[in-house]
Amino acid sequence: MSENKSLSNNWQLILLNNEHPLPAGYTVQLKNINSTHQVDERIADIAIAMIEDAKDEGIELLVCSSYRSVRRQQELLDEEIDMHITAGKSNDEALAEATQGLAMPGHSEHNSGLALDIVTPGYQSLDQGFEETDAFYWLSKNAYKYGFILRYPKGKTGITKIKYEPWHYRFVGQEHATIIKEKNLSLEEYLAEINKIK
Ligand SMILES: [Zn+2]
Repeated sequence: MSENKSLSNNWQLILLNNEHPLPAGYTVQLKNINSTHQVDERIADIAIAMIEDAKDEGIELLVCSSYRSVRRQQELLDEEIDMHITAGKSNDEALAEATQGLAMPGHSEHNSGLALDIVTPGYQSLDQGFEETDAFYWLSKNAYKYGFILRYPKGKTGITKIKYEPWHYRFVGQEHATIIKEKNLSLEEYLAEINKIK
């Protein structure tokens, strides 16, 4: 099978974190999943299907963040830095604090159009409390069937370098998502395993 050979340059498995930005010249073809949110067109239909299937089961999944351009990422970061400077922090401190919650431009999965932040109407704060909701329970049980993984799991912060985010889901495709869920891996660990096998 040629499948394994092409795994590392499979778009579904693109790695974005503090050390890995989007490749230069990476472009995203966008498609709307509702009136305000867009994702990579290759994942739009399955994202819509996941939201609709949840709804059929009485679960309201509310997308609060989706594709974000690199330029928008920069604006958000600048706003956050300004806020910390206004609060009396030095430039370095302000940058350090801002980047705890926001990736550098080009390093956010939202810049790829492959990630969704999902909450629910009754609980819209982006904090750990989301894990107590029925929406989170549904996602934990079902997201992998649509190719989405919980990208920043509890207990993996040392590897992902991002705090636990029960609301952030990343598309990797059903096949990969199933293994990642079964083995309880972060994307970084999964990619390391694949590269060992190759
Ligand atoms: Zn996110």
